[in-house]
Amino acid sequence: MPRPIKAIVDLSALRSNLALAKRAAPGARTLAVVKANAYGHGLLNAAHAFEDADGFAILEIENAVRLRDAGCRQPIVLLEGAFDSHDLRAAAEYQLACAIHDRDQVRLLQELPAAARLDLFVKLNTGMNRLGIAPRALPDVLDALRGEPRARSVTLMTHFACADDERGVEEQWGRFEAATRRFELPCTVANSAATLRYPQTHRDWIRPGIILYGASPFADVSAATLGLKPSMTLVSEIIGVQELAPGDAVGYGASFVAQRPMRIGIVACGYADGYPRHAPSGTPILVAGERTTTVGRVSMDMMCVDITAMPQAGRGSPVTLWGAGLSADEVAAAAGTISYELFCALAPRVPVIEQE
Ligand SMILES: *Cc1c(COP(=O)(O)O)cnc(C)c1O
Repeated sequence: MPRPIKAIVDLSALRSNLALAKRAAPGARTLAVVKANAYGHGLLNAAHAFEDADGFAILEIENAVRLRDAGCRQPIVLLEGAFDSHDLRAAAEYQLACAIHDRDQVRLLQELPAAARLDLFVKLNTGMNRLGIAPRALPDVLDALRGEPRARSVTLMTHFACADDERGVEEQWGRFEAATRRFELPCTVANSAATLRYPQTHRDWIRPGIILYGASPFADVSAATLGLKPSMTLVSEIIGVQELAPGDAVGYGASFVAQRPMRIGIVACGYADGYPRHAPSGTPILVAGERTTTVGRVSMDMMCVDITAMPQAGRGSPVTLWGAGLSADEVAAAAGTISYELFCALAPRVPVIEQE
């Protein structure tokens, strides 16, 4: 029997979340963001569930090529563009649209064979100060692209830093509008949070990621309230039981000490599976569908749960780390992180099983 941990990917939840994103932005097309192995869900599983997406956004050219080889005909956008001229040639060959976030990438484009044609997404820095061309440099870059036959189309893009919190998008959106209005080019701006909260930013293409995977982009609104369905459920089993007397400690560092007699279930899941090591004692977890809490430090391959109040629980009891019945957002918040990180950290050693 294999080790009992697995991530169950619910394809119908993925479809339902995509449909919700599309309903939120009825006038826009949808670039489904499938970077980081589709937020841990498995690139091809997700692409299959997202066949109604109008396009895909991803980082690595190898993975974009995997999508093409799997039969994906939609536009695929490389969100960081090409990293060198070799990449850019491959992008042209596989018809992958490329972000252009600096002038070096324009130069690489100009060095491509004359017959190459690429769709380009020119990324503006409107305040996140990560990647992107300064608004004042945009006219020059667009001039260069206008005279460049290899540039088949140009879409303007930016990315929000605070769309998910109370600061919102106003400042960045204002800068984007001011810099781009006169060019009348197609635009893509909205991530998940802006897709749900800021309809003015929908424009031509939305770029939802996290909502497609059933988690909330907002710290203060649950995924269930938004109508999202959990698409990844991480499950395992209790593989051992310990009876603790008051004063007995559990796990590395003896960080948890029982104050009363306790029954502890040992779960086959640890940080080497992607469960956050910094999740403290008290992080919610389900045993046989019932809520309880973790105790002690998460170790590499195991962690501990309190089953004192669950006399029927024992070796073989099913455990849900997050997903259906226990939102990843809640587990992430208890561990001081975000659902994005839980999903992306899912380790390669955890089998990912698709389910309808
Ligand atoms: C990751 C990413 C997104 C998706 O963000 P979510 O918050 O998951 O919706 C959109 N655009 C860009 C450029 C990204 O890197």
